[in-house]
Amino acid sequence: MKNFFKKFVAVATMATMLLTTAACGGSQEAPADGGADAAVVDSVQKIKDRGVLKVGVKVDVPKFGYKNTSTGEVEGFEIDLAKKIAGEILGDESKIEVQAVTAKTRGPLLDNGEIDLVIATFTITEERKETYNFSDPYFTDGVAMLVKKDAGFTGFKDMDGATIGVAQSATSKDALSKAAEEIGITVNFSEFASYPELKAALDSGRIDVFSVDGAILAGYVDESSEILPDRFDPQEYGVASKKSNTDLAETVNKVVNDLKASGEMDTMLAKWELK
Ligand code: GLU
Repeated sequence: MKNFFKKFVAVATMATMLLTTAACGGSQEAPADGGADAAVVDSVQKIKDRGVLKVGVKVDVPKFGYKNTSTGEVEGFEIDLAKKIAGEILGDESKIEVQAVTAKTRGPLLDNGEIDLVIATFTITEERKETYNFSDPYFTDGVAMLVKKDAGFTGFKDMDGATIGVAQSATSKDALSKAAEEIGITVNFSEFASYPELKAALDSGRIDVFSVDGAILAGYVDESSEILPDRFDPQEYGVASKKSNTDLAETVNKVVNDLKASGEMDTMLAKWELK
């Protein structure tokens, strides 16, 4: 009797496993409740069914993702790249829906499925690669520093004891901590949620330096401030997608590499005076 029971349990377990496998492999439908199975069915097909590619972009980084105040449109190289990916998946480059993201919000928005892709000056790091799929890089920048012109800083070496403002969840703090250690200076960090808050803190003297990638700082430089020439830690930007969505990652990487191979990527970068 005992043996019969064991056999019965074993057969029943196998049957359940087979059914589960079939469901995972065969269905491209999103569960109605968007529940725990959502990760399993994330796919390029889901985007095709929806008819639009949802992309998280920056709206405050000139040339990459920037809201044009006169047209109300978000434009830049990263928007053009999103259009190319929509063209590949949906056969229509206009089928994108953009959502503004920050360094802090872009990961969570991808995690909860509100967006399919992040194309938002997102630096590829080994640590982030454990959580997201990244395409091969499409651009390389470096961490830079914005200071008040009258502060008397000529470079990082002058910043012993200075307070450096950085964005939460950005790579800037790690890059500058390492650089400070290398040249033997001590700096303090103050973290902020957004770049406008960092600029306000610089203007009011709460921080001595506003640090992030040079491309991002370019959106905040004005008559009273300047970007110093120092650059730290190359920042390679990649298109990020949810770890479970491997077919989307493959499709995106194909688009990135096809654009590079054909020379079209260079034309797209040149359009925005990037290289
Ligand atoms: N690119 C850097 C990063 O990914 C700076 C933050 C940002 O992109 O806003 O951490």
